[in-house]
Amino acid sequence: VQPVLAVVGRPNVGKSTLVNRILGRREAVVQDVSGVTRDRVAYDALWNGKRFTLLDTGGWEPDAKGMQAAISAQAETAMATADVILLVVDGQVGATAVDQAVARTLRRSDRPVILAATKIDDSRGEGEIAALWRLGLGEPHPVSGLHGRGSGDLLDVVLDAM
Ligand code: GDP
Ligand code: MG
Repeated sequence: VQPVLAVVGRPNVGKSTLVNRILGRREAVVQDVSGVTRDRVAYDALWNGKRFTLLDTGGWEPDAKGMQAAISAQAETAMATADVILLVVDGQVGATAVDQAVARTLRRSDRPVILAATKIDDSRGEGEIAALWRLGLGEPHPVSGLHGRGSGDLLDVVLDAM
């Protein structure tokens, strides 16, 4: 049985774009407006010769109503299902109240949790993400799902945790 990586986070932060980057193909549905992503949730992924199952929790995304409760439920499901959890926040926006709530939930996880700050498309954005240490999930890893910047380094960290 291959290890499971769950990708969690608010709608529209760039989860599906990052999933596609990890898969090396466009399978997860990327949406320009936030909302329910009706794409498949589980994908087979391969990095450095290691196979793992990638869960894009976009399939569990709620509408804006009850967002905090729904995202926390998403995190609970990930904690029960996955071997490693990747929390994705929007590196251009920083941590929102909902991000803080989900981080609080994930800090209780007995599985490793890795923090990715995506939409960091160039070096200019990198300084800002230091504030994300405050989420209490360790080092924030800058990445651009769109351009691929930092994705190899992030995957190395993720696979080390498996
Ligand atoms: P999800 O709802 O978390 O799955 O987010 P999506 O992957 O659907 O992306 C939401 C929006 O953010 C889309 O308009 C994407 O094009 C945009 N986006 C995602 N990743 C990046 C990135 O690395 N850089 C930039 N500039 N935009 C991104
Ligand atoms: Mg999505």
